[in-house]
Amino acid sequence: MYNFLPIAYFEDNFIPFSDAKISIATHALHYGTGALGGLRGIPDPQDSTRILLFRLDRHCQRLSTSAKFLHYDISAEKIEETIIEFIKKNQPSTSFYIRPFVYTADLGIAPRLHSIKKDFFVYGLELGEYSSPTGVTCRISSWYRQTDVSFPLRGKISAAYITSSLAKTEAVESGFDEAILMNSQGKVSEASGMNIFIVRNGQIFTPGFEQDILEGITRDSVMKLAGDLGFKVIERPIDKSELFIADEVFLCGTAAKVLPVLQIENFKLPESRPITEKLRDKFTAITENRDPKYQDWVFPVSL
Ligand code: PMP
Repeated sequence: MYNFLPIAYFEDNFIPFSDAKISIATHALHYGTGALGGLRGIPDPQDSTRILLFRLDRHCQRLSTSAKFLHYDISAEKIEETIIEFIKKNQPSTSFYIRPFVYTADLGIAPRLHSIKKDFFVYGLELGEYSSPTGVTCRISSWYRQTDVSFPLRGKISAAYITSSLAKTEAVESGFDEAILMNSQGKVSEASGMNIFIVRNGQIFTPGFEQDILEGITRDSVMKLAGDLGFKVIERPIDKSELFIADEVFLCGTAAKVLPVLQIENFKLPESRPITEKLRDKFTAITENRDPKYQDWVFPVSL
């Protein structure tokens, strides 16, 4: 089903992906004490000897920050260097996804973060379009996004993905493509692995950090981009009922990029989505380094 890149970084070495294996007694597997990154690489459409990584610095920074919650001190620079080396070793020729991961790596039981070895690995897989490019239908999840009083939402912690997984499967098993989760206050938070935006009367709205969202890097990029295109982007709480009457709704994330929402529950959204389409086209152009204004967001790696 997946084509993995042949070389992984594991236990401080570059080794064949098929040899990078952990024990069934690995601590993080039992307690969700890992944190993940996820970024895209594409062959530079203008230069086949280069790979382009979208906002590499931000992805490495976020993982280094997430690692703090595991009591693991790993610098963004170390993560960045390893990812660059990983790409050179793999020589990818198609679009791919990189998964760097930090975790409690000792064998044994008892949840804790002190007095336990931490480790870091990186692997990759080929990844084209993540889901239907035309758009997705969404169910409002019966599962709520975690709250920061009981979960470190400013990190991308692996344990959080039980909620995403429950929500996604609930949506798919009831005939939808994707889930939209409310937060514990009943305001819109995000999708199972993407942030959310709505458009009403030409203005763009998105939930702020206080709505328990993940600090999405695509979200940050879309907000800057939309502002540069002259749109007003407002972070504020969004009610569930606003989703149903919005002019446009779209999701965004590294894997799916900018993804239109076609329907939420039994409410069909308008077929014309001019702002989503504009942002989507611009965003794709930026990730392919076709827009000099945003060159800083695209990190080239020479193979
Ligand atoms: N929310 C969640 C729960 C996610 O897993 C992701 C994907 N990393 C996002 C939002 C979007 O974040 P990003 O744009 O950084 O990929």
